[in-house]
Amino acid sequence: PVLKQVSLNKLVLDMKMVIESQTFLDGIELNFLLSTDEPRVMIDEQQIKQVLLNIVKNAIEAMEDTASPKLVISTGIKHQEKQVFLSISDNGPGMSEETSRKIGTPFYTTKDKGTGLGLSICYQMIKEHQGRIQVTSESGEGTTFIILLPYQNQEK
Ligand code: ADP
Ligand code: MG
Repeated sequence: PVLKQVSLNKLVLDMKMVIESQTFLDGIELNFLLSTDEPRVMIDEQQIKQVLLNIVKNAIEAMEDTASPKLVISTGIKHQEKQVFLSISDNGPGMSEETSRKIGTPFYTTKDKGTGLGLSICYQMIKEHQGRIQVTSESGEGTTFIILLPYQNQEK
């Protein structure tokens, strides 16, 4: 990995056009809630961009049959925990208890043509960054993935 100090907001903005074009085509309402304090992180930018895109892709696929699909991408700082977060929230069907337990296991998929590799790669990359991924999912309500990464000193 190539570690560099970057702003998480800038990373999200770099991906904005790609995400907008994908969600626009599917009629998904898209919102960005970016933290007003700069959440700085020491990361491999390409890897974290790939994690973001993998999770966004899953969210888009999950909302295929959702009536008014919505995607919210937010960033922030948890000062007490010395962590920054990047969260991706959808209002799709959510996950069964079994799926929540098994996601991230290589080759676990519920899709006909899924590979079951997207999340296992995400979990691996976030682990290499000393971070973690939290998932909350409510049946019929949606799913939120929260990527937590160690926080960098805010000074330059
Ligand atoms: P794949 O997308 O190839 O199935 P992933 O590792 O990316 O593999 O995802 C594994 C499984 O996690 C998916 O098959 C799906 O069941 C579940 N999943 C992931 N993201 C979501 C989401 N946003 N909403 C509902 N289920 C999800
Ligand atoms: Mg996937």
